[in-house]
Amino acid sequence: MPRKTVIIGGGAAGLGSAGGVKAVDPSAEVVVYTQFEDVAYSPCGIPYVHGGEIPDFERLFLAGKQAYVDAGIDVHYETEVTAIDTAARTVTVAGEGTVPYDSLIIATGFDYADPGVPGGELGGLYYVKNIRRAMAWDKVIGDTERAVVVEAGPLGLEMVTALAHRGVETHLIDPNPYPLAMMADPDIMAPVVDSWLELGVHLHFNTDLKAFVGDGRGQLRAVATSDGEIPAELAVVATHKRPNVALAAAAGLRTGSTGGLVVDERMATSAPQVWAAGDACEIPHGLTRTPLQGLTGSHAYAQGKAAGANAGGGDRCYRAVFVPWGTPAGKWVIGGASFGEATALALGVPYVLGVAETSSPARYYPGRKRFRIKLLAEPGSLRLIGGQMVGGGEGIKERADFLAQAIRFGLTLPELAEMDTVYAPEIGALDEPIAAAAADGVGAARKAG
Ligand SMILES: Cc1cc2nc3c(=O)[nH]c(=O)nc-3n(C[C@H](O)[C@H](O)[C@H](O)COP(=O)(O)OP(=O)(O)OC[C@H]3O[C@@H](n4cnc5c(N)ncnc54)[C@H](O)[C@@H]3O)c2cc1C
Repeated sequence: MPRKTVIIGGGAAGLGSAGGVKAVDPSAEVVVYTQFEDVAYSPCGIPYVHGGEIPDFERLFLAGKQAYVDAGIDVHYETEVTAIDTAARTVTVAGEGTVPYDSLIIATGFDYADPGVPGGELGGLYYVKNIRRAMAWDKVIGDTERAVVVEAGPLGLEMVTALAHRGVETHLIDPNPYPLAMMADPDIMAPVVDSWLELGVHLHFNTDLKAFVGDGRGQLRAVATSDGEIPAELAVVATHKRPNVALAAAAGLRTGSTGGLVVDERMATSAPQVWAAGDACEIPHGLTRTPLQGLTGSHAYAQGKAAGANAGGGDRCYRAVFVPWGTPAGKWVIGGASFGEATALALGVPYVLGVAETSSPARYYPGRKRFRIKLLAEPGSLRLIGGQMVGGGEGIKERADFLAQAIRFGLTLPELAEMDTVYAPEIGALDEPIAAAAADGVGAARKAG
């Protein structure tokens, strides 16, 4: 009899898991349950279709349903798992009854945090996630004059730019003094703020959401804030991500301080033969061991691969994370790894700072844009502990990935200052920004004695 793995969730983590199981045991029976109509589409592309940069939603589908049938992965669409019994090793599935498993993977993902204010039931509140809903909402955006984006997190950033590109009068409200304040530094975000102002975006920082205000017919008329009412027909609710773990918690699985499921290095949960992956779990930060929840789709997919391999009888580790991140924002691209100054200060982590203000591509190449990079290192050892960048886009993702690896492997500022680099005018300046910032940090450490 083939071993049967049941996977709850058809997002990046769930499908990564399905592939992970099949990679180690091609004969395994793999059943995936998802509440959605589709799998294998990129939710990450949705804001760019709304913004008009990607011409249609069809391009976001990465594989057809037949591809999963051909791969021996049995996906049950629009099917909800309603209970887990870890002692009996069964799940209860709406419309299917009790389904046994040999191993179970929980990849139930995230929900946007409940804004917790009156008016949450009104029409006109858009939680960006499901592609079918996004297709319908895209038509609404086409008819929208004024919109409010609630919270300047990663999705809020993308939706602000998208709505502005669509010609909608766009307001952003956020309780912090600048956008992406939970992870980015204010000087990294300053050019982004300027570019939104150029795009005509109305920015309301240090501003709390108070209520969604209806028009008497069940539709949004305005968003009430600590700074007054903003008339709007559409509110994009981009509150922070919360782990969707009600099902797992009801089954007695252990959750941690973030609310996410606690897993070990093999993505095993507190119950035997039950693994978890993606935004439903929490993963420790590689330097501080602080649990992190709500990472990204690429983290979810990689965790799914590990969970699936182990659920299928293999042995694969998913280690603590050094959190490379990056995103377009306004006319800029921002990114980094581990933490920046704001987070280091909040955590009380001491650091030496190296900064470089350069350009990319080469300074004489048409279309060059400024490039600001900051590196943080541990005083004394000068081991890299974090970095952040803002620039025109070239190489930000690759540098963020590289910095995360540099932190993982303990590279120091002197080593980075002397790194071998590529110089090609169109794609990079002679003075590699990482090396320049590292050299600056070495100088700063020397001065500080
Ligand atoms: C608009 C948008 C933009 C994004 N942009 C990026 C980006 O640029 N880069 C990046 O790396 N990531 C991006 N992400 C990814 C995102 O932030 C998450 O990290 C990622 O979706 C997590 O994947 P997941 O599989 O853990 O969970 P989810 O994607 O939340 O999937 C959860 C799955 O579980 C299913 N499910 C839940 N409960 C049940 C149940 N009881 N029964 C059956 N099925 C259930 C759902 O139907 C769904 O299939 C974006 C996401 C969105 C929505």
